[in-house]
Amino acid sequence: MNFVARADAARTVSLTVRPAGHELLLAYFGVDYARDLEAQGTLDAAARDEVVKIFGTQLGSQIRRSTATGWVGDRWARGSYSAARPGFAHCRKVLARPVGERVFFAGDACTVDTFGAIHGAWASGVSAAQHLIATLARGRLAPAVPSARSR
Ligand SMILES: Cc1cc2nc3c(=O)[nH]c(=O)nc-3n(C[C@H](O)[C@H](O)[C@H](O)COP(=O)(O)OP(=O)(O)OC[C@H]3O[C@@H](n4cnc5c(N)ncnc54)[C@H](O)[C@@H]3O)c2cc1C
Repeated sequence: MNFVARADAARTVSLTVRPAGHELLLAYFGVDYARDLEAQGTLDAAARDEVVKIFGTQLGSQIRRSTATGWVGDRWARGSYSAARPGFAHCRKVLARPVGERVFFAGDACTVDTFGAIHGAWASGVSAAQHLIATLARGRLAPAVPSARSR
């Protein structure tokens, strides 16, 4: 079961309860809230607080172990999942548009239906590659630097 704790606030948590039947609860924080909690080293504590707020202190006392991963501070990742604000999912199509038929974009953030997942990133990469090949075939992609042969 997946749900978001609050629909009226950006500083909220998204929860996955018993993923694949495991006695586990996954808590996801986003954007500025995630950034702040990661910087303060309080991801675990905030997740516990949110869970207690939703399910009560009895469940909170039954949490045996917790661990947190913070991706914002990872210089090669700088975040984890892509997320669109409510009402702006269509903007993912804008992200996927090439610039000047020369710079092509791919990645899970560029897909409307399969964002936040490996298969979305893969499908987006295939789509960008096909677009690039079609552009080359039409002869519309001029080389940025003249090749040795053309000089
Ligand atoms: C904890 C976690 C668990 C996940 N679990 C699942 C799962 O179970 N199933 C699933 O389908 N998906 C899962 N995902 C999501 C999945 O990993 C992503 O959707 C997918 O990796 C996105 O692929 P991408 O190619 O768009 O971006 P990325 O895989 O993020 O690739 C972007 C690459 O660009 C590089 N880069 C960034 N900035 C620069 C720069 N300035 N110059 C050069 N290189 C740069 C990065 O180092 C990175 O290698 C998970 C993600 C996280 C964080």
